[in-house]
Amino acid sequence: MSAIRLPDTQAHAAKEPTIGVWATGDPRVDEESRQRALKRLEEELLEAEGQLESKLREQLQETTAEASTQLTELEAARLIVRRAAAAMDSKSPDATRLCAMAKRFATDACFTIANEALQLHGGYGYLKDFPLERHVRDLRVHQILEGTNEIMRVIVARHLIGR
Ligand SMILES: Cc1cc2nc3c(=O)[nH]c(=O)nc-3n(C[C@H](O)[C@H](O)[C@H](O)COP(=O)(O)OP(=O)(O)OC[C@H]3O[C@@H](n4cnc5c(N)ncnc54)[C@H](O)[C@@H]3O)c2cc1C
Repeated sequence: MSAIRLPDTQAHAAKEPTIGVWATGDPRVDEESRQRALKRLEEELLEAEGQLESKLREQLQETTAEASTQLTELEAARLIVRRAAAAMDSKSPDATRLCAMAKRFATDACFTIANEALQLHGGYGYLKDFPLERHVRDLRVHQILEGTNEIMRVIVARHLIGR
């Protein structure tokens, strides 16, 4: 059976070793080396904390930038729907075109928003445990129901070319 080799603490001290050796409280380690290792550990922890903080700040900025784009798209979708509804209420000759535009734009925009939100949640976004997957499915079918979005484009195109 081979003898267990203890770490050469002096050699480790000379090379600024990993903290594992110091953490054992090896009595052969002199106080100065222990203090140096603890200071090094403290510095490393502070550095890691700083890196984590800056990474989190970066991710938060990305997420809020995405969310602000989505919120803007949602606002635009609400506006076009209200414009179409107002055209319907006032029996405007533009009502059909505006309704087709609104249906296509709002359902596409809202599906994209929900789909991006799902992506943001990672795998959890896909699970039935959370309401998001339901929103994504419901919004997807709205691109099909009550006349598909391709047909909405056909309606707008007909108005565009005057037929
Ligand atoms: C959950 C659910 C509930 C529904 N509820 C109702 C309901 O209550 N009442 C009701 O009447 N119907 C209902 N439907 C049916 C729905 O309205 C139709 O599915 C929808 O109108 C599309 O028709 P389709 O499925 O026959 O597709 P199709 O008309 O066969 O179209 C298939 C694909 O081809 C595309 N396409 C077709 N023609 C063109 C063209 N000229 N130019 C470009 N692309 C084209 C379409 O956009 C679509 O992507 C429901 C459907 C679903 C999924």
